[in-house]
Amino acid sequence: MEQVDVVVIGAGAAGMFCAAQAGQGGCRVLLLDNGKKTGRKILMSGGGRCNFTNLYAEPAAYLCENPHFCKSALARYTQWDFIDMVNRYDIAWHEKTLGQLFCDDSAQQIVALLDKECELGNVDVRLRSEITDVQKTEEGFIIKVNGSIVSTHSLVVASGGLSMPGLGATPFGYRLAEQFGLKVLPTRAGLVPFTLHKPLLEHLQTLSGVSVPAVLTAEDGTVFRESILFTHRGMSGPAVLQLSSYWQPGEFVSVNLLPDVDLATFLNTQRQDHPNQSLKNTLAMQLPKRLVECLQTLGQLPDVTLKQLNVPQQAELVEQLQNWQVQPNGTEGYRTAEVTLGGVDTNELSSKTMAAAKVPGLYFIGEVVDVTGWLGGYNFQWAWSSAWACAQDLVAA
Ligand code: FAD
Repeated sequence: MEQVDVVVIGAGAAGMFCAAQAGQGGCRVLLLDNGKKTGRKILMSGGGRCNFTNLYAEPAAYLCENPHFCKSALARYTQWDFIDMVNRYDIAWHEKTLGQLFCDDSAQQIVALLDKECELGNVDVRLRSEITDVQKTEEGFIIKVNGSIVSTHSLVVASGGLSMPGLGATPFGYRLAEQFGLKVLPTRAGLVPFTLHKPLLEHLQTLSGVSVPAVLTAEDGTVFRESILFTHRGMSGPAVLQLSSYWQPGEFVSVNLLPDVDLATFLNTQRQDHPNQSLKNTLAMQLPKRLVECLQTLGQLPDVTLKQLNVPQQAELVEQLQNWQVQPNGTEGYRTAEVTLGGVDTNELSSKTMAAAKVPGLYFIGEVVDVTGWLGGYNFQWAWSSAWACAQDLVAA
């Protein structure tokens, strides 16, 4: 029977980084993945340029039942540590916006970095691996993979969440946690576009491709200021993706289409200077013309000139444009979601090592854990930080 110190399941961001660090620390590491390639999601990430971290990564940017859980790992392996590593590999990068760091050239460079780090750690990487059984023994675990048996002292589960099943996502990690009696919190799609009810959707479909800066507020008070994008299925864009992680079915979202305009003052000034100007043309000075036309067909803008716009109409208009209540009928789900909310309950894990308290030698890292970041490089930073914390413990064991 083959024997190793550590088996890591999942050759994504967290699994590769953990395997490499543990290997470089002297552990014999076997890294298993069901796919044909390492780092498949990394290759797809950031539009092919991988938003690998965020300058402002901090615990407040993560959703988790226990908001304190991610603090230790994020503090011990920070965005600056990963930026140092990217610099050591001479990978050129830039800040796109809001602290989001992307490769100048290609996400492939991050995968190549991780492949090289694994090589430096003598990690045995086995792709197309089907794990059919995992059992606990006194010394560790017995794993059945592609019909062969491997014995390991420690087992790290880095099998990710459920988003993008086309990229190999499976519920493996959740099932394994349950097999060992660990609680798994309900999962749902996060960082995902909203779909809309039919009458509204039919109107907004005419805007497919239009993007506007906006401020979105969820019913729990969470606010994001970024752009929204109208799509043929509903609404997307960074502000929508961010808010989707805070949205529950049935809830409304408040959309402020003119967050930087004092609309009443603007309309009053325009009315004084151009009383015969249509409301539509006036608003087209602040919003895309197609959006204004669509809002008119939706009945949100009266077809009047500025001098005809009466006080109650103006008050209603301000409300419609700056506190537009949209009720999504759902999200596009795991098919297009960037992340999975929920997962292995952090109360089952050590925040310092990611080890399961109830099962010696068992660890969960990355997205399979109930820690989900905002859009913008925060999820990869969690993968690096949780992987690093785990690897330190594996090396010390
Ligand atoms: P994953 O990267 O999902 O890796 C899990 C691995 O486990 C996979 O290789 C999978 O094949 C393997 N696996 C699953 N089940 C099994 C099994 N049964 N047996 C063996 N292997 C298994 N985050 C950012 O921070 N920045 C971005 O730019 C960004 N862009 C994204 C773009 C897209 C399209 C998507 C879908 C996500 C994006 N994310 C981004 C989120 C980020 O990719 C994930 O949070 C991150 O990859 C999680 O890392 P992980 O290692 O935990 O899981």
